[in-house]
Amino acid sequence: MRVAMIGTGYVGLVSGTCFSEFGHTVVCVDKNPDRIGALQRGEIPIFEPGLDDLVMRNVKAGRLSFTQDIKAAVQGAEAVFIAVGTPSRRGDGEADLSYVYAAAKEIAEAMSHFTLVVTKSTVPVGTGREVERIIRQTRPDADFEVASNPEFLREGAAIEDFMRPDRVVCGAESDRAREILRNLYRPLYLNETPILFTALETAELIKYAANAFLAMKITFINEIADLCEKVNVNVQDVSRGIGLDGRIGSKFLHAGPGYGGSCFPKDTQALVATGRKFSSPLQIIETVVAINDTRKRRMAEKIIAACGGSVKGKTVAVLGLTFKPGTDDMRDSPSLDIIPALQKAGAVVRAYDPEGMHEAKKLLNDVVWCQDGYEAAEGADVLAILTEWNQFRAMDLARLKELLKQPVMVDLRNIYKPAEMEQAGFTYYSVGRPPVMPAGVSA
Ligand code: NAD
Repeated sequence: MRVAMIGTGYVGLVSGTCFSEFGHTVVCVDKNPDRIGALQRGEIPIFEPGLDDLVMRNVKAGRLSFTQDIKAAVQGAEAVFIAVGTPSRRGDGEADLSYVYAAAKEIAEAMSHFTLVVTKSTVPVGTGREVERIIRQTRPDADFEVASNPEFLREGAAIEDFMRPDRVVCGAESDRAREILRNLYRPLYLNETPILFTALETAELIKYAANAFLAMKITFINEIADLCEKVNVNVQDVSRGIGLDGRIGSKFLHAGPGYGGSCFPKDTQALVATGRKFSSPLQIIETVVAINDTRKRRMAEKIIAACGGSVKGKTVAVLGLTFKPGTDDMRDSPSLDIIPALQKAGAVVRAYDPEGMHEAKKLLNDVVWCQDGYEAAEGADVLAILTEWNQFRAMDLARLKELLKQPVMVDLRNIYKPAEMEQAGFTYYSVGRPPVMPAGVSA
């Protein structure tokens, strides 16, 4: 099939590339000339493991191309996906749909034959109908249908998630639309991936409900972790103990500094806003949002406490800046709350991230940028791990101990074992686990 993908961000570029890998002919469109220029030169503007090879292979095979020309892309396509951003609107937390609606209008202007317009962006209930209305108003003569196909991929594992999803959700209301979507996802269909056909509004709500549930699960274990610290219990044992219950499941039960990233923060807020709009408040999610916001700031306090209650004139080494490993995405990363709070309290911050430094430098000021974790540790009073990149999991503890002014670590991702830190002679704080103190000192 011939596909146009509008927006070549994390979702558009991965989805477009994977559709071409399925054998479809895909034209990816973006407004951003730098992005399209880079892609046309064979450069991948985002970090996503495995994406560069997949893009190259499909470009070479003639199935994948990039353009700024939305008109040509739409005119050559049977299905047009909208995969533009839907950031939080300042002030009220509602999803900013201006990019989606602008794309809908541009698509309408370009249409020349029957086109299935599919929203892949995460959009609130009712957006698909509004897209329909905009297209109809722009081009009363157009032959089209609107469907919803929310995306569930995770950055860092995006290709695997797209190629082997738990399910595909399609809000489509005619046989014709369902047939096009079924054809697009045929390789998955043959693999027996559940493909769930629903009404437009249902598909839109499924995406928000899924993200809000996952954000709630993370927040739940984070609060349990806080209790664990008070009652001398290891939260990882609790996670395992409850996660083995099939009704609960073990995923998203890792305590940490609070969820971040380009989806959970904005999608929970947008769902809360939708609930209010329809006079059906989502109190659980409102609470999740509030707890998570406070938590990020509290993590800075935890680091300050590890420094004896003040970081004034002290140096903090920060390892990891992105909201999770495997991506260069800095959107709503906990580091963006924690580092400024440490600086405000008087700390000098030395930081390193394997992939996020380029973006981080645009968002954080007065940080001493380092080449690796060891350089960041040089002369620091405390070392804080904010993201669980693999290269931070097995650092040479003896070397770190020598580089640090004092051997203190705050591990907000629980990637080290308390026993090994004790043996290495560190004072060690983690999340939801008893701290490790040098002999003779009590917590
Ligand atoms: P992004 O900000 O990385 O990319 C959006 C791209 O769309 C940008 O490159 C922008 O230039 C382009 N764009 C905007 N308007 C355009 C237009 N009219 N024509 C052409 N290009 C246009 O966004 P993203 O992270 O890929 O997210 C896209 C959507 O997918 C959002 O709704 C998001 O919530 C959802 N989503 C994201 C993820 C994720 O992990 N990032 C996962 C699932 C769903």
